[in-house]
Amino acid sequence: MRRKLVVGNWKMHGSRVANEPLLAAIAQGRPYACDVAVCAPFLYIAEVAVAFAGGDLRWGAQDCSVHEQGAYTGEVSAAMLAEFGCRYVIVGHSERRQYHQESDQLVADKAKAALAKGVTPIVCVGESLAQREAGQTDDVVKRQLSAVIHTLAHCAGEMVVAYEPVWAIGTGRTATPEQAQDVHALLRAQLHAATPHAAQMKILYGGSVKADNAASLFAQPDIDGGLIGGASLKANDFIAICRAAG
Ligand code: PEP
Repeated sequence: MRRKLVVGNWKMHGSRVANEPLLAAIAQGRPYACDVAVCAPFLYIAEVAVAFAGGDLRWGAQDCSVHEQGAYTGEVSAAMLAEFGCRYVIVGHSERRQYHQESDQLVADKAKAALAKGVTPIVCVGESLAQREAGQTDDVVKRQLSAVIHTLAHCAGEMVVAYEPVWAIGTGRTATPEQAQDVHALLRAQLHAATPHAAQMKILYGGSVKADNAASLFAQPDIDGGLIGGASLKANDFIAICRAAG
């Protein structure tokens, strides 16, 4: 049985004043019956590390460079994330694919760079509304995942996958549990063909997960938890989602 994982994606939200009570509330909500992590903006990672120190809560980043080090102004390497205790890094979020023109191969290279430093990549895949309506969902997510599988090769079993339909992110419109499960099953089958570890791998769902819809999503056989955007900024909501995964 796979242990569930709930990851908060703060995106570009937060402030030192707002972070402190949010992190304290999440820490005070322990114990959780699932794994829990927060992926904060780079500048706040050290603050999360202090707030979560000494417990079983994890933290991470929302992006990393493909490069190890060098003249890459503005970039942050996977080694730097590891130095600050990051367990996870989100790569290929649809906002980065859309606003920063990240290609499938760049996302795969970032996942490889993260794994090389011991940071688990949470690889996001997902179709746009137009692609879903055109019946292209399966092809799109398979193409996105395929690039990562080929680049990671024998290490593919070490990533976490997140299915995030673009039309459900931040829109309040969630995929139904059945819609999400269909895509998760497809992704699991693709992983099975690529790695002997597929049955143990976590595939998270993301896209307007809230306290009141989390349990039905997490009850699906191939949904192993959630990547949570907006609701991860409200302590009570995020804790309730973590409880729904327990
Ligand atoms: C996300 O940004 O990964 C996300 C799923 O956002 P939201 O929960 O706000 O839809």
